[in-house]
Amino acid sequence: GEPSLYLGIDFGTSGARYALVDQQGAIHSEGKITYPHVDKVTNWANSWKEALFHLLSDIPSIYRPSISSISIDGTSATTLIINRNNGELLAGPFLYNESFTDALLTVESIAPANHTVCSGSSTLCKLVSWWNSSSAGLRSRDSAILMHQSDWLLWLLHGQYGVSDYNNTLKVGYDPETDAYPSWLMSQPYAYMLPSVRAPGAPIGSIKEDVRAQLGFPDHCVVCTGTTDSIAAFLAARTTTPGKAVTSLGSTLAIKLVSSVRVDDARFGVYSHRLDDMWLVGGASNTGGAVLRQLFNDEQLVVLSKEIDSSIPSPLDYYPLPKPGERFPVSDPNMMPRLQPRPESDAAYLHGILESIARIEAKGYSLLKELGASAVEEVLTAGGGSQNEKWTAIRGRVLGVPVKKAEQTEAAYGAALLALKGATTTH
Ligand code: ADP
Repeated sequence: GEPSLYLGIDFGTSGARYALVDQQGAIHSEGKITYPHVDKVTNWANSWKEALFHLLSDIPSIYRPSISSISIDGTSATTLIINRNNGELLAGPFLYNESFTDALLTVESIAPANHTVCSGSSTLCKLVSWWNSSSAGLRSRDSAILMHQSDWLLWLLHGQYGVSDYNNTLKVGYDPETDAYPSWLMSQPYAYMLPSVRAPGAPIGSIKEDVRAQLGFPDHCVVCTGTTDSIAAFLAARTTTPGKAVTSLGSTLAIKLVSSVRVDDARFGVYSHRLDDMWLVGGASNTGGAVLRQLFNDEQLVVLSKEIDSSIPSPLDYYPLPKPGERFPVSDPNMMPRLQPRPESDAAYLHGILESIARIEAKGYSLLKELGASAVEEVLTAGGGSQNEKWTAIRGRVLGVPVKKAEQTEAAYGAALLALKGATTTH
C-alpha cells in the first residue's frame, strides 16, 4: 500500500504550519494558517484549537490514512493551567513573551542563582504568579495541572493528562541532566501540577477515536511528545553531531551548537537544551538583519552584494546594533552601535557590515568554546541572510569552517522528524 507518512505541526508566534514527510524525510504535503486577528478579546486557546483542526482538515484526504504519527512544537514558556477532571481551562494561556515579575522574588528565593527560571517570562514565574493569586479552593483540590502550548495541543489529540518533554519543561525548572525535577522545585506546594517528562518525539498514545474517525487517520496513528519552536527549527537542519551548528540570520543573529558538554552562563544568556545524548548550546546577539533593513531594502541587498569580492577581508570594523545594548558574545547592556566611518561606496559599506557581523558570529562560537562547549566544525545557515551567497563566503573565510545554507529550516519539518522518531520507537 501507500508508504507511511509522519506529521509535524509548528505553532509559531504568528501562525501554524504543518509538514508531512515520509521515512526518508521527503515532504509530501505542507500547509499554513495565520492566527485570526489579534485583539484584546481573543481567546488564544480557542484560536489555537481552531488553527489545529483547520490545518488537519487541510491535509489532502488521500494522505490521511497513511499518517502513522504526529508531533507538535509550540512557543517556549507558553503556559496553560488545566483542570484534569474535565479538561477545562483554569488560567492562561500565558504567552511566551508575557512577563510575571510579581513572581520573580519568590522564584529567585527558591531556585539556584542565575537559573533559567529566574526570568519574568519563565514558565515557573507564570506558575508561581497564578498560584499566589488563586483561591485556596483551586489550589487544594489537586486537580489543576500545568501544560505548555504543545502539551495542550497534543492533548487535544491523545487525551492523556500531564505529559510533556524535556525541552518544554526546561523553563519550569526540569533538570535534563539528572532527568528529574530538582528537590527545590519538588518541595513546593504546587509540585503536583508539574507534568511527567519524556524525550521529545516519544510516543504518548493513540490518537483519540473521535478525532481519528472525523479526520480519516489510521487506527495505528500515534501521538508523540513535542518540543519548542526553536528546537524544532534546529532539528529541521538534521545536523546532530558535536561541532555541527546552525546560525540563524534573521532580524537577530542566533547560534546553536551541538556539544558533548553542557554549557550555561547567565551573563551571556547562554544555556543548553538536551538533544538525546548531546547538548544544544545557544546564544543570541542583537546584531543581525534588523540593522541591514534600517539601511537597505532586500532588493538593494541583492544588487550591492553582487559587487562585493568576498575573498578580500573588509578593513571596516563595525558593531551593527539596531539600538544600544548587547548580551552575547559581549555582555554590555549599554554597548553603543558602531557603524562609522561610512565609505563613499554603498557596496563597500555593506561589505564592512557583513564582515563585521561575521566577526561577531565567529566570536560567538569562540566564546562557547571558551565556556567549555565543543569546537565548531561546520555551520548551516537559516533565516533571510542565508540567501546571500557572498555573505556565506565571507562567513566561511572569517569562521574558518565550512558554511552553507540549511536545506530545511521550517520548525514544522523538525516536528515531523520527531513524529518519525516516535513512530520508529514503537516498532
Ligand atoms: P525574522 O524572521 O527574524 O524577522 P527573516 O529570517 O525573515 O527574519 O530574515 C529577514 C532579515 O533578512 C531581514 O532583516 C533582512 O535585512 C535580511 N535579508 C534579507 N535578504 C537579505 C540578503 N540578500 N542579504 C542579507 N540579508 C538579507
